[in-house]
Amino acid sequence: MEIKVNKCVIRRTIPFVTSQASQDTVNAVIIQISDGEHMGVGETCPRPHINGETLDSSFNQAVAWAQSIEVGPSITPFSFDPGYTQLGSSTAMGIESALFDLYSRQIGVPLHRLMNDQQREIVSYAGFIGANVKGQKLQKGLHRYADYDFVRMKLSGDLNDDFERINMFRETLPSVSLWIDVNQAWDETVYDRASELDGVYMIEQPFSVGRESLNNKLRDHAHVMLDESVQSLEDMHRFKDTMDAVNLKLLKLGHYSAVHESVMQAKEAGLQTYCGGTTMTDIAAAYARHLEFAVPSLDFFTTGKPRASVLKEPISGSLGYSMEPLALSPQDVGLGVELYEDALARCTREYFVRRL
Ligand SMILES: [Mg+2]
Repeated sequence: MEIKVNKCVIRRTIPFVTSQASQDTVNAVIIQISDGEHMGVGETCPRPHINGETLDSSFNQAVAWAQSIEVGPSITPFSFDPGYTQLGSSTAMGIESALFDLYSRQIGVPLHRLMNDQQREIVSYAGFIGANVKGQKLQKGLHRYADYDFVRMKLSGDLNDDFERINMFRETLPSVSLWIDVNQAWDETVYDRASELDGVYMIEQPFSVGRESLNNKLRDHAHVMLDESVQSLEDMHRFKDTMDAVNLKLLKLGHYSAVHESVMQAKEAGLQTYCGGTTMTDIAAAYARHLEFAVPSLDFFTTGKPRASVLKEPISGSLGYSMEPLALSPQDVGLGVELYEDALARCTREYFVRRL
């Protein structure tokens, strides 16, 4: 048995732009667990602004976990206890992914079958438009989304700019549901233009954290989803009367049982549910896809889409699609992606190995 923990920085092909920031690299800790015949892999997604984890904290926690375990029951996904070990949520997700991947390869089944036998057969992913795609570039690219049920568009926070893009989208693709992510960038001045939001399906986090009560005036025009305001299940229950839907980011929740329990509680509170993420390699995207198929109450999907195309140096094989924007349930054993060791080595800044 061997455990290897890799601290990685991966360059993006194009920057990820929201109303708050622009990023041109992606941080990841890649965990490999091998029994000599099979290898399981997992990726942690340390994002200080989302889950409070840094590349260093995630690497150090994964190394401490690797140093603490013993061969035996603690090496299976079913006896993995992230609460006991005080792991950050995405670090728990990465370790659990590697354990699930290894175990499902050992017994020869797709990973999602280990999580839940009652999984769905097909999901429809939402399209994505970054905050920097506007004007002629947006107009030219919109036809690509004609077959989608939903498109999720990041806004810039400049109201004239935002409504120009919203109106352009709705005139060009009137039958596609528009979901906008404002990332906290609006204030009350948007009320003067609220009637232009009639027909938008979803507005994600329009106002800054702490101003959740402002949402209710917009809910006469469109559904409102909260993301940044909800960092915990406690937050979700506190703000449930100011939203219609919740973005329970996978990176905030961590391991499978937390995701499953959180989604169940959100549905009981009458909320539509989404588990978004940020840029990740196909390793974490594959894990998210298995979760999306295994968690029956999830309403919206984007996280399990292949991500390699946005990363300069993909560090896993590509997730296959049957027919975009739809994906069929994964049939390959384990996660269904293979690691490119040479690409991994080029992205790795530091690593730790333990043989046991
Ligand atoms: Mg968001």
